[in-house]
Amino acid sequence: MVRRMRTPSAIAERLAQTIGKMPPRLEYFIPTVTLELDAELEALFWFVITGICYQTHRLKGKIGNRELHGSDYMIGSALRTLQEAQNFWQPEHLLTLNPDELRSMFSDDGISAHSTLDRVEERLELIRDMMHLLKEKYNSRVMNIYNFAEGKVAGKSGVLSRLAEFKAYSDPTQKKSNLLVLYLNKRGIWRVADPESIQPPVDYHVMRVALRLGLVSIDDPCLNEKLRARRPVSAEEDATIRQHIQSALMNLVTKHRVDLFNLDSALWMVGRNCCLKDTPVCQYEQCTRAGVCTLVDALNYTCKLRCPFADYCSGAMDDEFRSLTETNFSSIYY
Ligand code: SF4
Repeated sequence: MVRRMRTPSAIAERLAQTIGKMPPRLEYFIPTVTLELDAELEALFWFVITGICYQTHRLKGKIGNRELHGSDYMIGSALRTLQEAQNFWQPEHLLTLNPDELRSMFSDDGISAHSTLDRVEERLELIRDMMHLLKEKYNSRVMNIYNFAEGKVAGKSGVLSRLAEFKAYSDPTQKKSNLLVLYLNKRGIWRVADPESIQPPVDYHVMRVALRLGLVSIDDPCLNEKLRARRPVSAEEDATIRQHIQSALMNLVTKHRVDLFNLDSALWMVGRNCCLKDTPVCQYEQCTRAGVCTLVDALNYTCKLRCPFADYCSGAMDDEFRSLTETNFSSIYY
């Protein structure tokens, strides 16, 4: 059977249908602890962890019997400190955190030398900046970012503009800010007045999947070639591609009525499990990642040992699309 390449709008339509059939499990994406937490402590936790959660592919470890990597391990091990040592999660303490303490949090046995966390000084600097500004402008309370914005996401005094003043949240496409607002709104901690103003967060997994799907096309041949050859791109080029993808994803939300949280969860999980950078599963007859795949833990979805998007994805039909990948751009943002 010869399969025809689809237009971006036909792909968007099919994608919206697929995502409607794979709702996320909230507890996987926004896990919590068994203790009753007050809203401020929970908001502080997600504010700090989201702020330092970027480029985590080297991070790994074990929690209980489970081998975790990347952001799963970052969140899981930080939650352990929230459960066991709430004094750690105080703005005054975070302000004076040293490299050993940060590494210890992300280590299986609490021994700093056993941690696989990298870019430690850089992440510490972001935490210090967050705590400094929080003290100076918000009386050391994350809830005040939301309160002072009167619950609004958009606008000059909205939550997104306020978050942009923190170094960790200063990226042009506001990936971490949108993700933080999306999560806190979903948890009911920041019940925002204008949820329609939350924009799709575009991280590197989401970017790779959107490009390979054919949801957007990069018309600039030079940039297209850079993506295929995995050559470094400038900050402007990176932001242009992310904005392009963000608009295409927003179209899925507004035109196809896809829930933004569900959309982000599904694309991200497919990106980190099926649409791997070097070995997308659609290049094989059948996926062999059962046992290490986390997609079925995170989404209510019955896996058929192939990528959920394979029936209409451009990358499944065309090597040129499949060779596209995320931008080669190093930053503290994604
Ligand atoms: S079908 Fe292939 S290229 Fe497309 S999203 Fe799935 S793994 Fe990636």
